[in-house]
Amino acid sequence: METGKIIKEITHSLPENCKLLVVSKTRSIETIMEAYLAGQRLFGENKVQELVQKHESLPPDIQWHMIGHLQTNKVKYIAPFIHTIQSVDSLKLLKVINNEAVKNNRIINFMFQLYIATEETKFGLSCNEIEEILQSSEFLALKNVLPTGLMGMASFTDNTMQVAKEFSSLGECFNYLRLKYFKDVLSFRELSMGMSSDYKIALEHGSTMIRLGSTIFGERI
Ligand SMILES: *Cc1c(COP(=O)(O)O)cnc(C)c1O
Repeated sequence: METGKIIKEITHSLPENCKLLVVSKTRSIETIMEAYLAGQRLFGENKVQELVQKHESLPPDIQWHMIGHLQTNKVKYIAPFIHTIQSVDSLKLLKVINNEAVKNNRIINFMFQLYIATEETKFGLSCNEIEEILQSSEFLALKNVLPTGLMGMASFTDNTMQVAKEFSSLGECFNYLRLKYFKDVLSFRELSMGMSSDYKIALEHGSTMIRLGSTIFGERI
């Protein structure tokens, strides 16, 4: 099936409060343009250099999301244009993002990346660690970063019960933080979870943003 058709089908099948982020890492400009021409505007990348190049070659109304691990020394390259950094995993990184946002005279949206204990990646924060950041005076002093929610990944496994359990705990942390720290803050509303292999389970557990690559474009080579 062609890319545009798949995007339209998935978009139409999503609940009203859920958005599709198309993960375009490793895909060519031509391939991404097909998705753009089908109306897609939210794209995710996981490498800074690739993100910068694609931003320069593609239409300016694309909302670029950084979904991969971000080193502090590379924030400056994406700060002028990035829409949302979904992979914030430390207060140190957040401070650098804030500094670069100030330099560019803009507000940068971000999500905390929530760590799942059984996951292989070492990146991400526990729900407790996120709370510690939210309570710190250092965090409260950052005026050019805006928390928009949480991003998480389930373990890479065929065990759908385990995946469901992990998405459910992501959802619990999200609801807990939202009620405790963001009751009147409408911007904190995204629960970014679900990839090609598990997005249907993520939707059952309250995902507001699914991140799909191979479902849209086919297997990465
Ligand atoms: C690559 C990637 C995705 C998309 O993966 P697919 O299996 O191709 O859908 C989603 N989220 C993150 C963080 C990724 O790195």
